[in-house]
Amino acid sequence: MIIDGKKEAEILRDEIKKEIISIKNKTNKVPGLSVILIGDLVPSQIYVRNKEKNSKEVGMNSNIIKYSKDVTEEEVLKKIKELNNDKNVSGILVQLPLPDQIGKEKIINSIDPSKDVDGFHPINVGNLASGYKAIVPCTPLGCLILIKKVEKNLSGKHAVIIGRSNLNGKPMAQLLLKENCTVTIVHTKTKNLKEECSKADILIAAAGKAKLVKKDWVKNGSIIIDVGINQEGDKIVGDVSFEEVKDKAKAVTPVPGGVGPMTIACLLKNTLECFKARLT
Ligand code: NAD
Repeated sequence: MIIDGKKEAEILRDEIKKEIISIKNKTNKVPGLSVILIGDLVPSQIYVRNKEKNSKEVGMNSNIIKYSKDVTEEEVLKKIKELNNDKNVSGILVQLPLPDQIGKEKIINSIDPSKDVDGFHPINVGNLASGYKAIVPCTPLGCLILIKKVEKNLSGKHAVIIGRSNLNGKPMAQLLLKENCTVTIVHTKTKNLKEECSKADILIAAAGKAKLVKKDWVKNGSIIIDVGINQEGDKIVGDVSFEEVKDKAKAVTPVPGGVGPMTIACLLKNTLECFKARLT
């Protein structure tokens, strides 16, 4: 089975759109997403444009705040403070990576945790790790939704995650622990990478290494989620050798068209949740 992330994202966006219409009819209010974009990195510009397009399509207000790459940290912090206090702003996102003069930690920590739609603020990270209600980073949230489309009950499954970033690997591990999986995180210093991966009922590849996962790395009948986005010539490929594993796995996500579309849909989901939390 090939997991169609595009279709699943469309389903999620439709649900979000319907909910926004229903709330708007009752309150005359809609969610607002503010995105801060610093510098002129092409991938960041593309991501932000997509986020804007998607949020408008579901009926949200979208506001992109652009700065040149030499903006001061102070100026960005001032803007975040303004957005934190703006009742029309439900969610705030600062597109990463940031230029050297801007401290990532300081920026993330300055966002009101209740508007932190990326789920990167330590309060949200801590709540997720404690098993409390939290805003969950969009990509792992999207991965979990896709996994659960294939298998509802994940209890007792052995999940292996390649990569330990704050963005992907670590929150993914927390989500799968909450689902009662036995979780292993592997990374660049792991010995016997292939052997560890081959034990996985659920394998999440989030290393950023083109076609790292080969046929003999995966277990028969496993669920494989490919988070990687890698440029190979003029093509975008994942961290998994899709053609090699697709007949061995029970289900696998393609790249493109797998996790990517779900990430943006989950950003909309998080923004809607933040908005709803402020309605009362
Ligand atoms: P990162 O560089 O912050 O982390 C990568 C992790 O993978 C590290 O923990 C590292 O130890 C591990 N790793 C790297 N090479 C490895 C190897 N050969 N063997 C074992 N472990 C290895 O990256 P990130 O921000 O977590 O992103 C990972 C990938 O996911 C990238 O390709 C990125 O573009 C992609 N990504 C996709 C989406 C999406 O929506 N699909 C969203 C975010 C990131």
